[in-house]
Amino acid sequence: MVAEILAVGTELLMGQIVNTNAQYITKRLNDVGVNVYYHSVVGDNPVRLKECLELALNRCDVVITTGGLGPTRDDITKESVADILGIRLVRHEEIFQNIKCFFERVNRRMMDNNTKQADIPEDCTIIPNNNGTAPGFLIEKDGKTIIMLPGPPREMIPMFEDTVYPYFEKKTGQIIGSRMLKVFGIGESEMEMKILDLIEAQSNPTIAPYVSKGEIVIRVTARSKNYGEAMKMINPVIERIRERLGSNLYAFDGETLEETVVQLLIEKNISISTVESCTGGMLASKLVNVPGVSKVFDNGFITYSNQSKIDVLGVLPDTISTCGAVSKETAVEMVKGLIKRTSTRAGISITGIAGPDGGTPEKPVGSVYIAVMLDGEIESIGLKLNGDRERVRHMACLNALNMLRKKILRL
Ligand code: ATP
Repeated sequence: MVAEILAVGTELLMGQIVNTNAQYITKRLNDVGVNVYYHSVVGDNPVRLKECLELALNRCDVVITTGGLGPTRDDITKESVADILGIRLVRHEEIFQNIKCFFERVNRRMMDNNTKQADIPEDCTIIPNNNGTAPGFLIEKDGKTIIMLPGPPREMIPMFEDTVYPYFEKKTGQIIGSRMLKVFGIGESEMEMKILDLIEAQSNPTIAPYVSKGEIVIRVTARSKNYGEAMKMINPVIERIRERLGSNLYAFDGETLEETVVQLLIEKNISISTVESCTGGMLASKLVNVPGVSKVFDNGFITYSNQSKIDVLGVLPDTISTCGAVSKETAVEMVKGLIKRTSTRAGISITGIAGPDGGTPEKPVGSVYIAVMLDGEIESIGLKLNGDRERVRHMACLNALNMLRKKILRL
């Protein structure tokens, strides 16, 4: 199977940005047994883009484009591919609603060109984008595969790793084993510093780190004559990564943080309850998504108003008026009140400002306080999280779960 990578963007031709996407995709396609024969770059010009697409489809089985999927007029990749393949673009209701919700959430007016992102090639597979608004597409037609990915590497890489790489793994039928490690609690650059020599020294297995939904993922992949051999090659590499990253490494096969925490709770027979303000039940919902959680999950309160924090949990009105409802002191009183009510061994409280309104200079949007109690011992932190309302709430939950996870590991 041979492939061409076609990068779309006038900025690339002007020398303003370097085509790192082609470099990344080529390396990973080689890992999965797809040979890359051509790299090409074209500006945001429909005539020249279509010429390049036609040429690429004539000489390769697989064409992967990056860039030109955004909402503006010069984003023409999707339209040009549809034209060349003779397929229609059709409105996708779910994507349309997602974009609409995104604009409502950030309190911005949705323009006509934004709705264009909800028009997708018919009969395509959608490649979800968890880090941006433009989804990617995979089309199989007349023996050819055309894959369209967005330009920004922080969107393109997770989409490639989560959807495109596994697609080729299946397609090439080569014996490729991979394990997906997950890391939480250190930044991407710190993680990379710690394992850079391992990444650079390895060619088989390969080590590919990327960020997806606020978590660092490290995919370790080996090519071998059978699956068992591949795992034998991968496992010592994982051991070395584990030595470097310690307890920040929490999953070895793509488990979610909540799955890891629930498993720990069950193993150690620790009951849990939660109380949430700004996350409004998101933490409880994440826990409840994990099958088997009923063995340990007792109660999930949402105490959104100040009064409910006082009435349900016994938070002192004084604490709220002097320190604020969003404060470490309130978080601590919330978790104490929670444990008093439920008598579980573990409890988590979260209070914060998810935005877009409600921030102050001292406590900007994204200020979140979390308290975790385990066997009578309390730990609390204050965080400044970035992103929109959804991301702040999501990251607050992940941080809370990670605090509890680390606390249990120290038992
Ligand atoms: P968006 O939704 O952000 O508009 P897009 O798919 O339309 O995404 P472009 O507008 O073409 O992407 O590019 C957006 C940014 O992504 C560029 O400014 C550049 O920073 C980065 N980018 C684009 N193509 C590449 C590439 N081939 N290699 C590395 N970075 C790239």
